[in-house]
Amino acid sequence: MIARNTRQKQVILNILSNTTCHPTADWIYEEARKVIPNISKGTVYRNLKILSQSGRITELRIDKSARRYDGNGHNHYHLKCENCGNVFDLEIPVRKELDQWAAEKTGVAVNGHNIEFFGLCRGCLLKINRS
Ligand code: ZN
Ligand code: MN
Repeated sequence: MIARNTRQKQVILNILSNTTCHPTADWIYEEARKVIPNISKGTVYRNLKILSQSGRITELRIDKSARRYDGNGHNHYHLKCENCGNVFDLEIPVRKELDQWAAEKTGVAVNGHNIEFFGLCRGCLLKINRS
């Protein structure tokens, strides 16, 4: 039982570490079935929840239609392209000072923050500039 759970988690982690597309649970399920044909959707969803709660992966709410998942559990910023709909990592340092700024300005306690950017990805910008 424990071995099976470990394997299911490992398969999901492998799928996430081999893609940069920040996939939905349904996409991950389709990929997991190629490795474990009898895996259920519920099992995939449950493992995604456990892995994100433990901080091993990140659950993204950037997409209003479906939650997306990221094999990188460390905080980093994302851009959702309003043209192609893809979600990209932004290679810029996390502004940790924002936590202290928000706390000092409002008197709340801040444990962290997420930033979601919206705009156009490099690929879409290139296409627009070419046409
Ligand atoms: Zn795009
Ligand atoms: Mn990411």
